[in-house]
Amino acid sequence: MTDIQELLLSRIRDVADYPEPGVMFKDITPLLADPAAFTALTDALAEIAADTGATKIVGLEARGFILGAPVAVRAGLGFIPVRKAGKLPGATLRQAYDLEYGSAEIEVHAEDLTAGDRVLIVDDVLATGGTAEAAIHLIQRAGAQVSGLAVLMELGFLGARARLAPTLAGAPLEALLQV
Ligand code: AMP
Repeated sequence: MTDIQELLLSRIRDVADYPEPGVMFKDITPLLADPAAFTALTDALAEIAADTGATKIVGLEARGFILGAPVAVRAGLGFIPVRKAGKLPGATLRQAYDLEYGSAEIEVHAEDLTAGDRVLIVDDVLATGGTAEAAIHLIQRAGAQVSGLAVLMELGFLGARARLAPTLAGAPLEALLQV
């Protein structure tokens, strides 16, 4: 593990049985509160944006906003929020996806993405990959291309990498930390 990975990992707090029994919640608030760690994370994600030739950063509500916005500024790119349904005021594209119990919908402003855009999706934790999969579909339906998916932490035992491979269609999935 690199020094940066050790720093990032040391600033993520495991909270057992949150928000429900059996879930080990990865709390990134200690990382956000540490300027050295937050800066290192922002720099690492901005490097992925540059390496993948991204022209825009998409952040997934809500912690993807906190991570994605400074990455966009650092990389000199625009930031596009993908929000839970009903939060964006303009004309949107909407994508439904399945949760363990029930389903959810996410949206993006249709005018924010255009053909020719290469979009890096940013989020904190990749768990089942359901949210990221829906976001990739949304970006593709807008006519844009996904340059990659970048997360702070991948929960490898949940199998998202295999699930997302067909949808990512060769675009890289970069996780700074693996669990
Ligand atoms: P999924 O769609 O299952 O990949 O879930 C991804 C979303 O849920 C991300 O936006 C994460 O912020 C959040 N999430 C899922 N599992 C965890 C976890 N164990 N700790 C923290 N956040 C999680």
